[in-house]
Amino acid sequence: TRIRPSSKRCAVIGGSGFLGRHLVEKLLGKGYTVSVFDIRQSYELPGVTFHQGDLCDKQALLTALQGVSLVFHCASPAPASDDKALFQRVNIQGTQTVLQECHKIYYNKDRLNSIKEMLLVLTSSASVVFEGTDIKDGREDLPYAKKPIDYYTETKIEQEKLVLKACDKENGLLTVAIRPHGIFGPRDPQLVPILVDTARRGKMKFIIGDGSNLVDFTFVDNVVHGHILAAESLRPESPICGKAYHITNDEPVRF
Ligand code: NAD
Repeated sequence: TRIRPSSKRCAVIGGSGFLGRHLVEKLLGKGYTVSVFDIRQSYELPGVTFHQGDLCDKQALLTALQGVSLVFHCASPAPASDDKALFQRVNIQGTQTVLQECHKIYYNKDRLNSIKEMLLVLTSSASVVFEGTDIKDGREDLPYAKKPIDYYTETKIEQEKLVLKACDKENGLLTVAIRPHGIFGPRDPQLVPILVDTARRGKMKFIIGDGSNLVDFTFVDNVVHGHILAAESLRPESPICGKAYHITNDEPVRF
């Protein structure tokens, strides 16, 4: 059976993750029904349909995107990994698959009358412009890092370029990217737990630099808010089409 597309039906790729689950919960609160696509299922919620599968599996992804005209893509391997092939496969090939399947849904003749545009919101990262030196009040027109700090960032740059370049009003695909830096909040599996654990083990006894390095952390609800604002403003006439936006709290944190 085919599901009729609705503007209140969306998909969250990576919806079992830290950010993804917060996004799903906020979307449900705003009256959306949500299709989650992820390699693992980490919870159950009314209003959410889980589709377990790998981003590079076209058929599985297409099934999860049935009836959807808004897609959030926030799946990625954990940044700490040094598995270059994994980043390449998930962040580049996987993102190409997402773009292809979004096009496929749009061009499905049965749907052409009811889907005006496919909307894709990518979770990128502020590290795409980070070259190893502090950035304060950095704007989105900063160039991409020529020497990304790791494989993760290298593939996040390529991923963001692919998604923004695919924005094509004539062909019905509208894209936007959100660039948070460190995200904190309830159920954060990485940032705060790792800091606390390192401190408990007595391994936080030295400072890198002179103590004035800057780093930006954003509360997860603000990151979610940025994603939903972007999605709800994404229209063919909107200036945000094909653009990337940094998302942050008011003040950088000084260590
Ligand atoms: P997370 O690890 O909690 O969530 C990522 C999710 O992606 C997981 O549920 C994982 O199972 C899923 N996933 C991984 N590979 C997959 C695949 N091949 N197919 C399908 N699903 C797959 O990470 P997070 O912190 O929630 O990060 C979400 C997004 O935000 C990522 O794109 C990340 O690059 C970006 N980001 C995170 C931070 C941060 O501080 N957490 C900062 C900047 C950007």
